[in-house]
Amino acid sequence: MPVTAQIAFDVEKVRKEFPLLQTSMNGKPIAFLDSAASSQKPHQVIDAITTYYREKNANVHRGVYQLSQEATTAFENARERARSFINAPASKEVIFVRGCTEGINLVASTFGKRFLKEGNEVLVSGMEHHSNIVPWQMACEDRGARLRVIPVNDRGELIMEEFERLLTDKVKIVAVTHVSNTLGTINPVAEIIAKAHEKGIPVLVDGAQAIPHMKVDVQELDADFYTFSGHKMFGPTGIGVLYGKEKWLNEMPPYQGGGEMIETVTFEKTTYNELPHKFEAGTPDIAGAVGLEAAIEYIQSIGYEAIHRHEAELLAYGAHQLQQIEGIRFIGTAREKASVISFLVEGIHPYDLGTILDKLGIAVRTGHHCTQPLMERFCIPGTVRASLAFYNNKNDIDRLVEGVRRAVAMLK
Ligand code: PMP
Repeated sequence: MPVTAQIAFDVEKVRKEFPLLQTSMNGKPIAFLDSAASSQKPHQVIDAITTYYREKNANVHRGVYQLSQEATTAFENARERARSFINAPASKEVIFVRGCTEGINLVASTFGKRFLKEGNEVLVSGMEHHSNIVPWQMACEDRGARLRVIPVNDRGELIMEEFERLLTDKVKIVAVTHVSNTLGTINPVAEIIAKAHEKGIPVLVDGAQAIPHMKVDVQELDADFYTFSGHKMFGPTGIGVLYGKEKWLNEMPPYQGGGEMIETVTFEKTTYNELPHKFEAGTPDIAGAVGLEAAIEYIQSIGYEAIHRHEAELLAYGAHQLQQIEGIRFIGTAREKASVISFLVEGIHPYDLGTILDKLGIAVRTGHHCTQPLMERFCIPGTVRASLAFYNNKNDIDRLVEGVRRAVAMLK
């Protein structure tokens, strides 16, 4: 192996850059294992936001004065950085949204209005987050269309034969998650997109859980829409990206009306601004965009290769250590998996387990993880989910394993 192939990754050095990882919870140093819900932020992101408010704050696209122009430049630079991050062809195809949820709602609502008719179908999967189910359900209800679901096998993988069977001419759009927040499954989205495109059907990919872990190239995937949230990728809350191919975005009506999204307004008629502003009504989250840019820079400074290597090692270690605990059952054992470990211990409610772990300073998520239909598929009330980021270390895993052992001893 060439010497350059292994980029040095020092997890302890990285951890020092995250102020919150230095704190404690219930009097114990925090073991933060809930990054799939929201990740922690490095000081580079926090500083970028503070600097923006201290030195550049003004509204964008409106002022002739220097400060406003600087804010506009900062905002548009962030868009350009987001574009190159996902290799979108043009920055006008990069729309700033509040997060993944808003990105999906935008597409479901406006694509739905333009393209969905009575008798049409929308195809989602059985492992979707509620935010990639409910907006489509609402659009279907509105348009008289029907929601169909690609089923999931016992390992927590999509059943691709069923996908192909469901991919009929009635389907007007496919909406699938790249990585499952509950199971960690990495879905074969490139294959899904290629199969859908053979029939001229566009695909929206929910990238909320992929972007913190893997390089995403929307052109290589040939995704029609790809959306993700800043807060799950070490950036701020309240900002996210919706990438959409220009040909679709041009056809879709605006999502919200207001300032920014117009070209001319009279009481008789309004004409709309060009992309991406057509979909960005009102004052955007400028500081959020600046923070997102800092998060992108931060990820790139570490590199997805190093992130993947470290997380894969932790995932394998965690799964192996937890496996030793009697009565443990893993939910989600896909062959292609990101660093999420969902599990149950026989006879113990996930909530009780999570509560004891909290007292030990270990932050995990318990419950249905906004995937109730998936819980129903596995006939379970919920799981305990430990989700890892590159800033986790073996000590976090050891504490989780020890914590689960102690909880089991107390609860059984
Ligand atoms: N999709 C997936 C797979 C998610 O995990 C989440 C967040 N848990 C969302 C969508 C929604 O993201 P947000 O709440 O940031 O809009």
